[in-house]
Amino acid sequence: MNNLSEALRQGLNTILEWIYPPKCMLCGSVMSVGQRIYLCPHCEGNLEIIGEPACARCGAPLENEENFCLKCRMQDFPFVSNTALLLYDAFTKSIIYKFKYGDKPGCARSLAALAYRHLAGVFDGADVMVPVPLYPGKRRRRGYNQAELLARELSKLCGAPVEPRALVRVRSTMPQARLNRAERENNVRGAFKANEKLKLKLILKGKKILLIDDIYTTGSTLCACAEAMREFDNVETRCFTLALAPADGGKYFES
Ligand SMILES: [Zn+2]
Ligand SMILES: [Zn+2]
Repeated sequence: MNNLSEALRQGLNTILEWIYPPKCMLCGSVMSVGQRIYLCPHCEGNLEIIGEPACARCGAPLENEENFCLKCRMQDFPFVSNTALLLYDAFTKSIIYKFKYGDKPGCARSLAALAYRHLAGVFDGADVMVPVPLYPGKRRRRGYNQAELLARELSKLCGAPVEPRALVRVRSTMPQARLNRAERENNVRGAFKANEKLKLKLILKGKKILLIDDIYTTGSTLCACAEAMREFDNVETRCFTLALAPADGGKYFES
């Protein structure tokens, strides 16, 4: 039944694409039918994909073959690792802006397909995906949570279910963008709690969790979320972010 409805949905999508050809989500050039990634070859070629070597904790690109960057060697983390797909340069910034304020479903689908193409192992290794929640008022105003949209598209590719109610944002926080490292930590400390519903406790017990967010800067938000995930029994938490921005005005490549 599910396979049949999925096949029908895909067939309908293909017909719609013939009538309304998909366009590159950045430059608007017409794409061929049947693509999963709505980024033309020119725009895709401009992406700065983070490859190896990268820090095994925060995902920052490294200049050498060390396991961890200098910052991560000096800090304890409540999660095992973060993997980021893109460097947060001006080009990635325009993509994420588009994702948050433009064509949401198309961007989520394209970005998920791009991430899965490069990092399938990260998603295939997860039992459950948990998007970083927005404060309910903010979610209502925006109408959606972009991390949840991304997780739902990733779920179609890797099969791991999404559990958007696992974490609850218990208070509103300031936008992190203009805050320094210490201010960011204070801003999100205690902002998340594990959902105490018995059903969720049973679903998540002992699971490999993949937290999903858009940008990793100092890791404060994901640390606060991973701390809250510890309230579930015996979970192992990893993180995925679309992009990684240099913290404290620093450089991209860590030593
Ligand atoms: Zn393009
Ligand atoms: Zn690191």
